[in-house]
Amino acid sequence: MPSTRTYKTHAIALKSNPFAERDRLLVLFTPNHGKLRVLAKGVRRTSSRLSGHVGLFSHSNLFLVNGRTFDLVTQGETIEQFPLLREDLWRLSQAFYAGELVDRFTEDQHPVTGLFEALVCCLSRLNDASLDPTLAIRAFELELLGLTGYRPQLYRCISCNCEIQPASNGFSYTDGGVICPECLLTNPAAFSVSVEALRVLRNLQTRPEETIRKLRASSDTVEEAERVLIGYIQYLLDIRLRSVGFLDIVRNLRAMPEGSSLLG
Ligand SMILES: [Zn+2]
Repeated sequence: MPSTRTYKTHAIALKSNPFAERDRLLVLFTPNHGKLRVLAKGVRRTSSRLSGHVGLFSHSNLFLVNGRTFDLVTQGETIEQFPLLREDLWRLSQAFYAGELVDRFTEDQHPVTGLFEALVCCLSRLNDASLDPTLAIRAFELELLGLTGYRPQLYRCISCNCEIQPASNGFSYTDGGVICPECLLTNPAAFSVSVEALRVLRNLQTRPEETIRKLRASSDTVEEAERVLIGYIQYLLDIRLRSVGFLDIVRNLRAMPEGSSLLG
Protein backbone atom coordinates (compact mmCIF):
# COMPACT_ATOMS: atom_id res chain seq x y z
CA MET A 1 0.00 0.00 0.00
CA PRO A 2 1.39 3.44 -0.87
CA SER A 3 1.73 5.65 2.16
CA THR A 4 -0.88 8.38 2.51
CA ARG A 5 0.32 11.76 1.44
CA THR A 6 -1.36 15.04 2.10
CA TYR A 7 -0.62 18.33 0.43
CA LYS A 8 -2.04 21.79 0.06
CA THR A 9 -2.23 23.96 -3.00
CA HIS A 10 -3.75 27.11 -4.36
CA ALA A 11 -6.36 26.10 -6.91
CA ILE A 12 -9.08 27.27 -9.26
CA ALA A 13 -11.84 24.87 -10.27
CA LEU A 14 -12.16 24.85 -14.07
CA LYS A 15 -14.86 22.19 -14.15
CA SER A 16 -17.22 20.71 -11.59
CA ASN A 17 -19.43 17.70 -12.25
CA PRO A 18 -21.79 15.82 -9.93
CA PHE A 19 -20.39 12.46 -8.88
CA ALA A 20 -22.08 9.62 -6.97
CA GLU A 21 -24.82 10.86 -4.68
CA ARG A 22 -23.28 13.77 -2.88
CA ASP A 23 -19.85 14.37 -4.36
CA ARG A 24 -18.31 16.46 -7.09
CA LEU A 25 -15.54 15.59 -9.48
CA LEU A 26 -13.43 18.69 -10.04
CA VAL A 27 -10.84 19.67 -12.59
CA LEU A 28 -8.53 22.02 -10.70
CA PHE A 29 -5.79 24.18 -12.05
CA THR A 30 -2.91 24.75 -9.64
CA PRO A 31 0.41 26.64 -9.76
CA ASN A 32 2.79 23.73 -9.03
CA HIS A 33 0.85 20.58 -9.95
CA GLY A 34 -0.80 21.85 -13.13
CA LYS A 35 -4.21 20.33 -13.81
CA LEU A 36 -5.63 17.88 -11.26
CA ARG A 37 -8.75 15.72 -11.29
CA VAL A 38 -9.92 15.42 -7.71
CA LEU A 39 -12.95 14.38 -5.72
CA ALA A 40 -14.72 16.67 -3.25
CA LYS A 41 -16.83 14.37 -1.11
CA GLY A 42 -20.17 15.42 0.30
CA VAL A 43 -20.11 18.90 -1.21
CA ARG A 44 -23.59 18.58 -2.71
CA ARG A 45 -25.04 18.38 0.79
CA THR A 46 -26.37 21.75 1.95
CA SER A 47 -24.51 21.29 5.23
CA SER A 48 -21.13 20.86 3.53
CA ARG A 49 -18.51 23.26 4.88
CA LEU A 50 -16.27 22.53 1.91
CA SER A 51 -18.73 23.44 -0.87
CA GLY A 52 -18.11 27.19 -0.62
CA HIS A 53 -14.39 26.70 -1.26
CA VAL A 54 -14.60 24.54 -4.37
CA GLY A 55 -16.98 26.62 -6.49
CA LEU A 56 -16.18 27.20 -10.16
CA PHE A 57 -13.54 29.88 -10.69
CA SER A 58 -13.05 30.58 -6.97
CA HIS A 59 -9.42 31.01 -5.98
CA SER A 60 -8.90 28.81 -2.93
CA ASN A 61 -6.25 27.19 -0.83
CA LEU A 62 -7.13 23.49 -0.66
CA PHE A 63 -5.87 20.59 1.42
CA LEU A 64 -5.80 17.25 -0.40
CA VAL A 65 -4.96 13.67 0.35
CA ASN A 66 -3.86 11.03 -2.16
CA GLY A 67 -6.67 8.67 -3.09
CA ARG A 68 -6.75 5.44 -5.08
CA THR A 69 -8.32 6.86 -8.25
CA PHE A 70 -8.69 10.54 -7.41
CA ASP A 71 -7.05 12.68 -4.75
CA LEU A 72 -9.59 13.93 -2.24
CA VAL A 73 -10.17 17.50 -1.12
CA THR A 74 -10.31 17.45 2.69
CA GLN A 75 -10.39 21.13 3.65
CA GLY A 76 -10.30 24.50 2.00
CA GLU A 77 -10.18 28.23 2.49
CA THR A 78 -11.31 30.77 -0.07
CA ILE A 79 -8.75 33.36 -1.03
CA GLU A 80 -10.76 35.29 -3.58
CA GLN A 81 -14.17 34.96 -5.09
CA PHE A 82 -15.13 36.82 -8.21
CA PRO A 83 -18.75 37.77 -7.47
CA LEU A 84 -19.38 39.78 -10.63
CA LEU A 85 -19.04 36.56 -12.63
CA ARG A 86 -22.16 35.25 -10.91
CA GLU A 87 -24.13 38.36 -11.76
CA ASP A 88 -23.06 38.96 -15.34
CA LEU A 89 -23.58 36.17 -17.86
CA TRP A 90 -21.35 37.84 -20.45
CA ARG A 91 -18.42 37.97 -18.02
CA LEU A 92 -19.15 34.44 -16.82
CA SER A 93 -19.11 33.14 -20.39
CA GLN A 94 -15.65 34.70 -20.84
CA ALA A 95 -14.50 32.94 -17.65
CA PHE A 96 -15.77 29.60 -19.04
CA TYR A 97 -13.77 30.29 -22.19
CA ALA A 98 -10.61 31.10 -20.17
CA GLY A 99 -11.13 27.90 -18.19
CA GLU A 100 -11.57 25.82 -21.33
CA LEU A 101 -8.38 27.31 -22.80
CA VAL A 102 -6.38 26.34 -19.70
CA ASP A 103 -7.94 22.88 -19.73
CA ARG A 104 -7.17 22.32 -23.43
CA PHE A 105 -3.64 23.75 -23.44
CA THR A 106 -2.41 21.81 -20.39
CA GLU A 107 -1.87 18.17 -19.47
CA ASP A 108 -2.74 16.62 -16.12
CA GLN A 109 -0.03 17.18 -13.51
CA HIS A 110 2.15 19.26 -15.83
CA PRO A 111 2.50 22.78 -14.42
CA VAL A 112 3.01 25.69 -16.84
CA THR A 113 5.09 28.42 -15.23
CA GLY A 114 3.10 31.62 -14.82
CA LEU A 115 -0.19 30.29 -16.15
CA PHE A 116 -1.95 30.03 -12.77
CA GLU A 117 -1.07 33.66 -12.01
CA ALA A 118 -2.24 34.66 -15.49
CA LEU A 119 -5.58 32.93 -14.92
CA VAL A 120 -6.07 34.64 -11.54
CA CYS A 121 -5.23 37.97 -13.16
CA CYS A 122 -7.72 37.29 -15.96
CA LEU A 123 -10.52 36.41 -13.50
CA SER A 124 -9.75 39.57 -11.47
CA ARG A 125 -10.06 41.65 -14.63
CA LEU A 126 -13.31 39.92 -15.63
CA ASN A 127 -14.56 40.71 -12.11
CA ASP A 128 -13.75 44.42 -12.52
CA ALA A 129 -16.83 46.28 -13.80
CA SER A 130 -14.66 49.15 -15.05
CA LEU A 131 -12.79 46.90 -17.51
CA ASP A 132 -13.96 45.59 -20.88
CA PRO A 133 -14.14 41.78 -20.49
CA THR A 134 -13.44 41.17 -24.18
CA LEU A 135 -10.11 43.02 -23.97
CA ALA A 136 -9.27 41.18 -20.73
CA ILE A 137 -9.84 37.84 -22.45
CA ARG A 138 -7.78 38.82 -25.54
CA ALA A 139 -4.87 39.74 -23.24
CA PHE A 140 -5.24 36.35 -21.52
CA GLU A 141 -5.25 34.48 -24.85
CA LEU A 142 -2.00 36.19 -25.82
CA GLU A 143 -0.41 35.50 -22.44
CA LEU A 144 -1.48 31.85 -22.51
CA LEU A 145 -0.14 31.44 -26.05
CA GLY A 146 3.19 32.90 -24.93
CA LEU A 147 3.43 30.72 -21.83
CA THR A 148 2.60 27.53 -23.72
CA GLY A 149 5.07 28.15 -26.55
CA TYR A 150 2.71 29.50 -29.22
CA ARG A 151 3.41 33.23 -28.92
CA PRO A 152 2.26 34.71 -32.25
CA GLN A 153 4.92 36.71 -34.11
CA LEU A 154 3.44 40.17 -34.64
CA TYR A 155 6.49 42.25 -35.61
CA ARG A 156 8.41 40.44 -38.36
CA CYS A 157 7.12 38.59 -41.41
CA ILE A 158 7.08 34.90 -40.51
CA SER A 159 8.01 34.10 -44.10
CA CYS A 160 10.85 36.53 -45.08
CA ASN A 161 11.65 38.05 -41.65
CA CYS A 162 11.28 41.65 -42.87
CA GLU A 163 9.99 44.19 -40.36
CA ILE A 164 6.22 44.52 -40.67
CA GLN A 165 5.11 47.96 -41.92
CA PRO A 166 1.65 49.56 -41.49
CA ALA A 167 0.26 48.12 -44.74
CA SER A 168 -2.04 45.36 -46.00
CA ASN A 169 -0.39 42.57 -44.05
CA GLY A 170 -1.67 39.06 -43.48
CA PHE A 171 -1.78 36.46 -40.75
CA SER A 172 -1.01 32.79 -41.12
CA TYR A 173 -2.29 30.22 -38.61
CA THR A 174 0.08 27.55 -39.94
CA ASP A 175 3.14 29.78 -39.44
CA GLY A 176 1.88 31.45 -36.26
CA GLY A 177 2.13 35.12 -37.09
CA VAL A 178 2.00 38.08 -39.44
CA ILE A 179 3.08 37.99 -43.03
CA CYS A 180 4.17 40.95 -45.20
CA PRO A 181 2.10 42.08 -48.25
CA GLU A 182 4.59 40.56 -50.70
CA CYS A 183 4.67 37.12 -49.03
CA LEU A 184 0.90 37.29 -48.57
CA LEU A 185 0.49 37.16 -52.37
CA THR A 186 2.10 33.74 -52.54
CA ASN A 187 0.62 32.24 -49.35
CA PRO A 188 -2.91 31.01 -50.04
CA ALA A 189 -3.42 29.89 -46.43
CA ALA A 190 -2.88 33.40 -45.00
CA PHE A 191 -5.61 36.04 -44.75
CA SER A 192 -5.55 39.85 -44.52
CA VAL A 193 -5.33 41.59 -41.19
CA SER A 194 -5.93 45.34 -40.82
CA VAL A 195 -3.31 47.75 -39.51
CA GLU A 196 -5.64 48.66 -36.65
CA ALA A 197 -6.32 45.07 -35.55
CA LEU A 198 -2.58 44.34 -35.63
CA ARG A 199 -1.97 47.41 -33.45
CA VAL A 200 -4.54 46.13 -30.91
CA LEU A 201 -2.93 42.68 -30.86
CA ARG A 202 0.57 44.11 -30.42
CA ASN A 203 -0.51 46.41 -27.60
CA LEU A 204 -2.35 43.60 -25.80
CA GLN A 205 0.70 41.35 -26.18
CA THR A 206 3.27 43.84 -24.88
CA ARG A 207 1.34 46.21 -22.57
CA PRO A 208 -1.80 44.32 -21.51
CA GLU A 209 -2.73 46.25 -18.37
CA GLU A 210 -2.41 49.70 -19.92
CA THR A 211 -4.12 48.57 -23.14
CA ILE A 212 -7.12 47.03 -21.37
CA ARG A 213 -7.61 50.26 -19.42
CA LYS A 214 -7.02 52.82 -22.18
CA LEU A 215 -7.47 51.27 -25.61
CA ARG A 216 -9.31 53.36 -28.14
CA ALA A 217 -10.46 51.15 -31.01
CA SER A 218 -13.66 50.57 -32.94
CA SER A 219 -15.75 47.51 -32.11
CA ASP A 220 -15.02 46.22 -35.66
CA THR A 221 -11.28 46.33 -34.92
CA VAL A 222 -11.66 44.57 -31.56
CA GLU A 223 -13.84 41.92 -33.23
CA GLU A 224 -11.25 41.42 -35.95
CA ALA A 225 -8.55 40.91 -33.29
CA GLU A 226 -10.87 38.38 -31.63
CA ARG A 227 -11.41 36.48 -34.89
CA VAL A 228 -7.66 36.28 -35.49
CA LEU A 229 -6.91 34.97 -32.00
CA ILE A 230 -9.80 32.53 -31.63
CA GLY A 231 -9.13 31.27 -35.15
CA TYR A 232 -5.44 30.74 -34.34
CA ILE A 233 -6.25 28.98 -31.06
CA GLN A 234 -8.80 26.66 -32.66
CA TYR A 235 -6.31 25.94 -35.44
CA LEU A 236 -3.66 24.99 -32.83
CA LEU A 237 -6.07 22.81 -30.87
CA ASP A 238 -7.68 21.43 -34.02
CA ILE A 239 -11.12 21.63 -32.44
CA ARG A 240 -14.05 23.96 -32.14
CA LEU A 241 -14.08 25.06 -28.49
CA ARG A 242 -17.41 24.45 -26.79
CA SER A 243 -17.21 27.71 -24.84
CA VAL A 244 -16.83 29.69 -28.09
CA GLY A 245 -20.28 28.45 -29.10
CA PHE A 246 -21.58 29.53 -25.69
CA LEU A 247 -19.97 32.98 -26.11
CA ASP A 248 -21.73 33.36 -29.46
CA ILE A 249 -25.10 32.46 -27.93
CA VAL A 250 -24.66 35.00 -25.11
CA ARG A 251 -23.42 37.61 -27.59
CA ASN A 252 -26.54 37.14 -29.73
CA LEU A 253 -28.77 37.38 -26.67
CA ARG A 254 -27.12 40.66 -25.74
CA ALA A 255 -27.66 41.99 -29.26
CA MET A 256 -31.40 41.26 -29.18
CA PRO A 257 -33.63 44.29 -28.61
CA GLU A 258 -35.16 44.35 -25.15
CA GLY A 259 -38.52 42.63 -24.94
CA SER A 260 -37.94 40.36 -27.94
CA SER A 261 -38.13 36.64 -27.41
CA LEU A 262 -35.84 33.86 -28.50
CA LEU A 263 -38.91 32.11 -29.89
CA GLY A 264 -39.71 35.09 -32.16
ZN1 LIG B 1 7.51 38.58 -46.03
